[in-house]
Amino acid sequence: MSNRDDFLAGAGVNTRLAHTGNAPSDYHGFVNPPIVRASTVLFPDARTMETRAQKYTYGTRGTPTTDALCAAIDALEGSAGTILVPSGLAAVTVPFLAFLSAGDHALIVDSVYFPTRHFCDTMLKRMGVEVEYYDPAIGAGIAALMRPNTRLVHTEAPGSNTFEMQDVGAIARAAHRQDCVVTMDNTWATPLYFKPLDHGVDISIHAATKYPSGHSDILMGTVSANARHWEQLHEATITLGICGSPDDSYQILRGLRTMGVRLERHQESALNLARWLEEHEDVARVLHPALPSFPGHDLWKRDFTGASGIFSFVLKAPDPAQAKMRAHAFLDALSLFGLGYSWGGYESLALVVGLSDRTICKQPAEGPVIRLQIGLEDVPDLRRDLEAGFTAAASVSG
Ligand SMILES: *Cc1c(COP(=O)(O)O)cnc(C)c1O
Repeated sequence: MSNRDDFLAGAGVNTRLAHTGNAPSDYHGFVNPPIVRASTVLFPDARTMETRAQKYTYGTRGTPTTDALCAAIDALEGSAGTILVPSGLAAVTVPFLAFLSAGDHALIVDSVYFPTRHFCDTMLKRMGVEVEYYDPAIGAGIAALMRPNTRLVHTEAPGSNTFEMQDVGAIARAAHRQDCVVTMDNTWATPLYFKPLDHGVDISIHAATKYPSGHSDILMGTVSANARHWEQLHEATITLGICGSPDDSYQILRGLRTMGVRLERHQESALNLARWLEEHEDVARVLHPALPSFPGHDLWKRDFTGASGIFSFVLKAPDPAQAKMRAHAFLDALSLFGLGYSWGGYESLALVVGLSDRTICKQPAEGPVIRLQIGLEDVPDLRRDLEAGFTAAASVSG
């Protein structure tokens, strides 16, 4: 380790974001690593080629640019190794393929990101893996669901769209008693606000598409493993032929430099609006883990060091026949909030959440769930936009 590495190991998170994953002295002093685009890598002689005795051997197996990003992610996660994949969804499916085999049983949290559920219900089932969904509030009680062939427990906290918290540590302890792999989709918190491996998780999953990218223009996933699981994860991505592109890696590395300051702003604005919505007469409930009124708040407070900028609220619609019309009137009246998927970018977004896939965490009775991604705009403007939405929703008659 160089002096710089020693210094960074004890530094604050924004310092580490500014200085990890690059080595200017390796590239003539230029601050950022070069984008090395590659399939072929040349060997100096036949003997070196035969033994593959050099650092880089082929584009799918890494380049200095993808390595720079992996090093930065490892430093944030405390992981033994990180693989890059072409999307956040692939960051879930690749470790599932790495660790599950026909005849295995997998426990998946019911509040999971919907495309993860779709993968489980289609491909995993076809491969002969039995999938069972569990209540996010289960905690140590997951022990009762474990079977002799349970091989993987997947967590995601807060849950997608409805933000249920999980006692990740208790779940990991129960799963490890039976030698299960514990995976976590940690996209919401990023490794800045929750470090899964410190809480017993074996595999930490991120849609880098969200906050690490930060600008709604890159698709990428990262999967980071502890030492015990790294080799099997790495072997799987090589076997599948899946890799991250150097250009995208460069952009994600660039996004990481400002992720800490962006998240502070996302957190502050989202909490400000969440508190305001909680007082609003047309809102039944706000689903945000950092609000003391939220059922999972104590777990969030115990385990997380911050909250990001995406949450939901339940729009009051006493007449179920009007729920959809009210939600659409709300969304159609917005001018700053865009109607679109994904999140983590600089601009605010809104959508109506569909929960028909859920078997345990069902649709709230009070009305439709509206999800807000709070961007970097000024809060008074966002509030004014949301007010227009409420006015339009209230004017739906009947
Ligand atoms: C967006 C998202 C993903 C998938 O990321 P993509 O890059 O869009 O495939 C996975 N997990 C969670 C929790 C997400 O929000």
